[in-house]
Amino acid sequence: MLSIRGRCAKRRSENRHRLKVSARPEPGPHPQLGYAASLIDRAAYCRTDDAALAKFADDARAGAYLIGGELVVMKQQGETIDPLFSVAEAQSVGTVRERIFLGLMQDAPRFGFGLDAAAVEQLKLRNDLKITDLRSIAVQGMVGAVHLPPLAEAKAMIGWHARHRFCPNCGASTRVVQAGWRRDCPSCHAEHFPRTDPVVIMLVIAGERCLLGRSPRFASTMWSCLAGFCEPGEAIEEAVRREVLEEVGIVSGRVRYFASQPWPFPMSLMIGCHAEAKSEKIVIDRSEIEDARWFDREELASMLARSHSGGLTTPPPIAIAHHIIRDYVEHGSDVLL
Ligand SMILES: [Zn+2]
Repeated sequence: MLSIRGRCAKRRSENRHRLKVSARPEPGPHPQLGYAASLIDRAAYCRTDDAALAKFADDARAGAYLIGGELVVMKQQGETIDPLFSVAEAQSVGTVRERIFLGLMQDAPRFGFGLDAAAVEQLKLRNDLKITDLRSIAVQGMVGAVHLPPLAEAKAMIGWHARHRFCPNCGASTRVVQAGWRRDCPSCHAEHFPRTDPVVIMLVIAGERCLLGRSPRFASTMWSCLAGFCEPGEAIEEAVRREVLEEVGIVSGRVRYFASQPWPFPMSLMIGCHAEAKSEKIVIDRSEIEDARWFDREELASMLARSHSGGLTTPPPIAIAHHIIRDYVEHGSDVLL
């Protein structure tokens, strides 16, 4: 007898054969979700080992990613862009404010160095450096995919340090300990750990139709999943149902987890879900989103394939929304099983 998981997989497989969507995207391996699937071993046990950390910094294979505010500093030689500096190279670029031990990449130590954001603006004058934001790096494929997860780790950590220089408990200046993974308050002795903000992002499904919305920040042709921050004291399923009700007035029933994605803007975790619609009438909260409407599965497939007759699009493959939508196009409402 098949397990529940086995039965779902079988049903999905059968459904895939039944599916007839004319503009279905070409089959093949799914593009990689940006910033996820890190090859870094965080080696957290080394964070309190000063001797090991000193040895790592002196290791000839050691490499550092440089972050300044929202920007990533990379080496550029002609068309070649390299985000990884040697420790000596990184220290020569500018004053390092924070050093984070990110972990080991196939035994090679990796660090994230934080530069002063204002100083990074000055570095833009140098033609041997490429300085841009992490979204552009991922969307344009400027660096190998292997670099995206450690860049995300470094950016989220540097961003956390930038916002936690003072103790939220007593207001005193805090100091960095544990290779960048904690800030301690010398006054009240509080220990502060890096945080991640959970965001639910969901595709609302009603049989062969699903609901997409538009933010005023989007490119004019793009439609995507609804999303919002998970609030304190709230389960993921509750956050999904609340956000959907608030943004478009739809009541949700079943909620199924799909996958998650680190989203270092500045330090979020996107929690991807599919949600079952229990009502149909859309009531848009214009303070949250610009527009929302139902799309049938075939129209959605053409948007994924970039062949929509009206030029409408979905987010690029680096974003989890793309994969949440693709899973529904391929498997239909079975994603809710
Ligand atoms: Zn304090």
